[in-house]
Amino acid sequence: MPTLHVNVVTPDGKVYEGDVDMVSVKTVEGELGILPRHIPLVAPLTVGAVRLKKDANVDFVAVSGGFVEVRPDQVTILAEAAELPSDIDVERARSAKERAEKRINNAKQDGIDHKRAELSLRRAINRIEVAEK
Ligand code: ATP
Repeated sequence: MPTLHVNVVTPDGKVYEGDVDMVSVKTVEGELGILPRHIPLVAPLTVGAVRLKKDANVDFVAVSGGFVEVRPDQVTILAEAAELPSDIDVERARSAKERAEKRINNAKQDGIDHKRAELSLRRAINRIEVAEK
């Protein structure tokens, strides 16, 4: 069975490298499942979990936006921030979630602050969900 060589990289360094059977990422247009021999593409990512399947095992990485580059035998995820479940500080994510919720309740509906707070909320919820997987 062919596999995919996957790298998840952030400005702070490499978060994950491995050979897997399948990768799922959350692009701005929706979920993208990638198998070996996928057509080459580059797509922007939104806040979400990257799912890495190898045999019966599934690993997750929390990703906060960036890009995925797909080649037939290789997937590179260039993430703004990315964490493995074991590296996620759940208390920090819960505090970030509370802060963002307060800001959303106080900010004007269509303001820049509102959008920033919503993104911050999505990052926090994603981290909490990935940490619990
Ligand atoms: P916070 O308000 O807690 O800083 P944030 O969503 O604004 O959260 P980011 O700007 O996305 O944080 O990330 C900044 C750096 O902190 C990145 O390196 C990211 O991996 C790391 N990081 C953020 N939140 C957590 C967390 N809950 N656990 C572990 N690392 C985190």
